[in-house]
Amino acid sequence: MGVIVVGAGLAGLACARELDRAGVAVHVFDREPVVGGRLGSAVSAGRSADVGAGYFTANDPAFVEQVRTWLAAGVARPWTDTLMTYDRGGPPHASTGPVRFTAPGGLRALAEDLAAGLDVTLGCEVTELPRADAVVLAMPGPQALRLLTPDAAAPAGGTGDTGTGTDGVGLVVEAARLQRWSAVLAVVLTYPERSWPCFRGAFVNNHPVLDRVFDDGDRRGDHAPVLVAHTNAEFAAVHLDRPADAGPEVERATRELLGLPTPATAVHVHPWRYAQPGARPDSAEFVLGDGVALAGDAFGRPRVQTAWLSGRAAGAALAARLG
Ligand SMILES: Cc1cc2nc3c(=O)[nH]c(=O)nc-3n(C[C@H](O)[C@H](O)[C@H](O)COP(=O)(O)OP(=O)(O)OC[C@H]3O[C@@H](n4cnc5c(N)ncnc54)[C@H](O)[C@@H]3O)c2cc1C
Repeated sequence: MGVIVVGAGLAGLACARELDRAGVAVHVFDREPVVGGRLGSAVSAGRSADVGAGYFTANDPAFVEQVRTWLAAGVARPWTDTLMTYDRGGPPHASTGPVRFTAPGGLRALAEDLAAGLDVTLGCEVTELPRADAVVLAMPGPQALRLLTPDAAAPAGGTGDTGTGTDGVGLVVEAARLQRWSAVLAVVLTYPERSWPCFRGAFVNNHPVLDRVFDDGDRRGDHAPVLVAHTNAEFAAVHLDRPADAGPEVERATRELLGLPTPATAVHVHPWRYAQPGARPDSAEFVLGDGVALAGDAFGRPRVQTAWLSGRAAGAALAARLG
């Protein structure tokens, strides 16, 4: 029967690649019509913009090696090591850190690269645990709970209850329930022209609406007059039921922050209910019950690198077990 991976985000695809490499039959399902999960993009005013991860960094040796292959293939490119920080009441300042990588065609291209040659079915929502030699749920815990405990309503951010599933799945249920998630609204703002000095991207501290703002034209390299603003979790939580209504407030906040002369001519809001997991109490890379694994970026700092490492480790463990 082989292994079924549910979720074609970076974790699921890294897992499937590892299994495939080890000669284990693997099939990936995703409910969306495209791969990539939170490496998402949205089309606004006829142009595609990144609305998921803003960029990625790499410091794990194995992931650094993976990034090298993406760079060599032109899938990814180094973007910048310097971003701005806006603190309330103070002037913005530049801070230099690790190299941030991005993708000219959008970060989803990383997932498309991993998916090449794999058996992937898209547009297929999995509603209960499939029958297979093993199943990997490569997704946020609350989404996994819908498959693990289909009769119970999935909690919005985890309840903290202890799982009591049967057939060895209880460990996985418990891990999924312990995860805490917060939301983000990603808002694509298209302007008549580029009226801002090149700032690449900015962290926004202690702001009632904004958390980060990215120059998507700079990030994608086409210099389109497009910004993508990410809201903070509190603002997103209030607007999750009617995200489009939040667009004008985010547009105004971004314009004020950057001192832009004109409003955006197109505003597109993309809600992420499960955008960012909270910190984990332990250092496990994934959890594996009796034939069911849970993987994803909740197993570490919520980063692209973490998702890849988690999926890859789950795939390697299953390959060893099944082999
Ligand atoms: C707004 C935002 C900003 C971010 N910024 C950064 C950043 O700057 N740097 C960084 O490194 N990371 C960032 N991240 C985090 C990064 O995007 C994630 O760590 C990574 O993409 C998670 O990958 P994953 O495979 O674990 O999960 P996901 O990408 O969420 O994949 C889960 C997949 O499972 C599928 N799925 C769920 N339920 C089902 C079902 N029942 N049936 C079928 N399919 C299902 C989903 O459709 C999805 O494709 C950001 C994320 C968001 C949302």
